[in-house]
Amino acid sequence: MRGKGAFGPPYFQLWFDFCIIPRKFGINAQLRKNLPRAGSFRRVRGVFRNSDVCASEPIGRNQATDGMRVGIGHDTHRLRPGGPLRLGGIDIPHDRESIGHSDGDALLHAVIDALLGAAALGDVGLMFPDTDPDNRGRDSGEMLTTALEAVSGLGWKIVNIDCIVFAQRPKLLTHRQAIRQRIADILEIEVERVGLQAKTGEGIGLIGNEEAFAAQCVALLEAKEE
Ligand code: MG
Repeated sequence: MRGKGAFGPPYFQLWFDFCIIPRKFGINAQLRKNLPRAGSFRRVRGVFRNSDVCASEPIGRNQATDGMRVGIGHDTHRLRPGGPLRLGGIDIPHDRESIGHSDGDALLHAVIDALLGAAALGDVGLMFPDTDPDNRGRDSGEMLTTALEAVSGLGWKIVNIDCIVFAQRPKLLTHRQAIRQRIADILEIEVERVGLQAKTGEGIGLIGNEEAFAAQCVALLEAKEE
């Protein structure tokens, strides 16, 4: 892609970027891919797109010049008799509880995955392996805070998230605002930026038969201002 700064025929542009610049600065094209401020090449030469230069690199602040990233998260946990049900960082009175290595909060796990996914940082299992005894019974709110710090540390801030909980019971209408507020508090954003929807399993399948519950989340990030 040729930008405003390009001059001469196209092949001259390529020759200049791949031969002259590396020689001048004593680097080769491969090393240039790993430069921490690779995104600046686009501005200087008007040739490279971030996706070209850093295709194999984790997306970080220095590659955030395009401004926005979207991520998606999904999680399912089995249910067993007991209670309460941990959902969205709060305990909901219920006759079934989540089975999980941590506190089993499928909704917060989906939020974590959406944030990490948007920043190309992997997922909750990568950040908090279930082989690590430290993660046994761990508070998912604390895990979400850690994930947020990682995403924020790369220069991203949350525009909004939207979540869906799939559970036959309990009815979430009376808990909806409390869950939204709790997630907003953890993420340090306004509650208006947290969407929450609830669906049943229509009485069929794992969700409908209350053998499991699930959650999905979409998160939109934008680059923080300098
Ligand atoms: Mg989970």
